[in-house]
Amino acid sequence: MHKIMILSGAGLSAESGIRTFRDHDGLWENHSVMEVCSTQGWIANRVKVTSFYNDRRRDLEFKEPNHAHKVLAQLEHDYRGRVIHLTQNIDNLMEKAGAKDIIHLHGTLTDLRCEACTQIFNIAYKKQVGNEKCPHCGNTRVRHNVVMFGEAAPEYTRIYQSIKECTLFIAIGTSGTVIDIIPIAKEFNKHSILIDPKRQNTASTFDPHDYIDEYFEHFIQKKAGDAMEDMMDIIKEHMGQG
Ligand code: NAD
Repeated sequence: MHKIMILSGAGLSAESGIRTFRDHDGLWENHSVMEVCSTQGWIANRVKVTSFYNDRRRDLEFKEPNHAHKVLAQLEHDYRGRVIHLTQNIDNLMEKAGAKDIIHLHGTLTDLRCEACTQIFNIAYKKQVGNEKCPHCGNTRVRHNVVMFGEAAPEYTRIYQSIKECTLFIAIGTSGTVIDIIPIAKEFNKHSILIDPKRQNTASTFDPHDYIDEYFEHFIQKKAGDAMEDMMDIIKEHMGQG
């Protein structure tokens, strides 16, 4: 039975007003990514990092899913059990659009994580003020639930499982710099779609003109919202075959 693997990134939420890294020179909301999203940054200044995620969480409350989120949520519903959606996004806009089964590879803004027992718990859009207690073990040393550079990302095993199970790969709004999408696309032997308004060249030292889209069967060079119709045509044809 044909199955779809979706890997989404920050570009999916761009039309909802959440900024990407790539389009802002490696800055995330005017902060250096390494300061707010790495273990070194966390060790250097926990207060700053906590405050950064408090701001992102507060902003998220007022963000709405865009057309692409809604189409992808409907896709999950229409092909129940045949779509695996892995996202690098830490926002909850797919869930706000009605999706039930999103795998967040880099964690979730609306949760905190206990540093003792590692369980996560929901904080919704609230500010982390420092008096939070883990509801599982009572520990008060809790942190944001976002995977930082320099940390293990346990959900990455789902990428390898999905490659084995799926027959079509769709990458949406990801530059491929955090998760390299070229080896994934290669595994799908060209049954693949890339959605991105810009061409992205890889960091290859051998060929600076090595463009990611050349590894995909279809490159829809549009914003996610504008690409949904073309994407659905390809999906329907693929799913109709098996
Ligand atoms: P990235 O910022 O490196 O790349 C974003 C990609 O999206 C670029 O290729 C860009 O051309 C494309 N893009 C821009 N606007 C688009 C649109 N309207 N439609 C489709 N594509 C568009 O993002 P990444 O590859 O996801 O990796 C960066 C990391 O940033 C991830 O680990 C993620 O956790 C984190 N991040 C998350 C959010 C979020 O949760 N919404 C926002 C910023 C960063």
